[in-house]
Amino acid sequence: MDINDLIKKSMGDEDLNSEEIAELFKVPLFSDEAALIQVASYRKSKIASENLAEVHAQIGLNIAPCPKNCLFCAFAASSGVFKEKSELPLSEVIERAKGFEADGANAVFLMSTADYPFTKFLETGLEVRKALRTETKLVANVGDFTLEEAKRIKAAGFCGVYHALRLGEGRDSRLRPEKRLETFSNAREAGLLLGTCLEPVGNEHTIDELVEKTIITREARPVFSGAARRIPIPNTKLSEYGLVSEARMAHILAVVRLALGYNIPGNCTHEPNVIGAAAGANLFWAEVGSNPRDTKKETKEARGMSVGDCRRLLEEAEWKVLSGPSVFYSEDGKKNADSDSSVICESALSHTQ
Ligand code: SF4
Repeated sequence: MDINDLIKKSMGDEDLNSEEIAELFKVPLFSDEAALIQVASYRKSKIASENLAEVHAQIGLNIAPCPKNCLFCAFAASSGVFKEKSELPLSEVIERAKGFEADGANAVFLMSTADYPFTKFLETGLEVRKALRTETKLVANVGDFTLEEAKRIKAAGFCGVYHALRLGEGRDSRLRPEKRLETFSNAREAGLLLGTCLEPVGNEHTIDELVEKTIITREARPVFSGAARRIPIPNTKLSEYGLVSEARMAHILAVVRLALGYNIPGNCTHEPNVIGAAAGANLFWAEVGSNPRDTKKETKEARGMSVGDCRRLLEEAEWKVLSGPSVFYSEDGKKNADSDSSVICESALSHTQ
């Protein structure tokens, strides 16, 4: 298959099939074709998001040895990283959320471990919602939920959720892939906008699995997808596979961008880096509190970046960062996710000629 033809097809907003996506993933790093893929991805992200990148900010509410034991997560009881439970007091959650708002985050996320009491999560959400400006977007990052729970998340003032069917789901985690997909549709039915991602990418993942999960993110009709690497948790089985380089992640997130249509405006990567942004990532996260990729209790003292750090990295890749509430998590983002994108397609074609 000619890589130029595949790029043209993607830029013309035709869906690439699994064989075509696999061809793009197979392209060697630092080849001429890899450079073309990344340039096209950057351009496609710019068109899809009308030239504006976003910085979202996440507060990890709690730490607990989690019985679900996902092998890539520092909270997994089996990792032995955190032996005690702890959580941020509500007053501190509110203060941090307001701090993110003041720093210019385009959306504020609340994250908890999967076994955190659902009602308590909602109560915290309600209080944070009251403390933030009405227009500030609040997003939930929690475990799987039913339709009823999805409606309660929405009623508590969240406009959307982050959720993923992760690489190795059901193999490296004890969560059923079907359940993850049910959560996608519950969110959708309740009117919650979905952000998702191809994650957590490790060196051992086959191209077939990357392709399969990329297509799942496309079919979920999210407001953003993207690709994020796995951070090795010391002394765990998966840490033996090491860390995927930022250069390789740049290629992977670029292929994801090309596999997805213009109707999906966001393309994230984590952790924030300039090569990724130059390859088409237009969404980074700042983080405080607990972090499933960190062995420190307070991630802002370790892996977590600030809103300013994320903005600076995006700007280094010539992105302009949106000022104000997230467009990805807005009715416009939703409209895009629901549209057939024929209008955007015409505009894109004019950029490829
Ligand atoms: S990823 Fe979520 S469900 Fe899995 S161990 Fe971590 S907190 Fe638990």
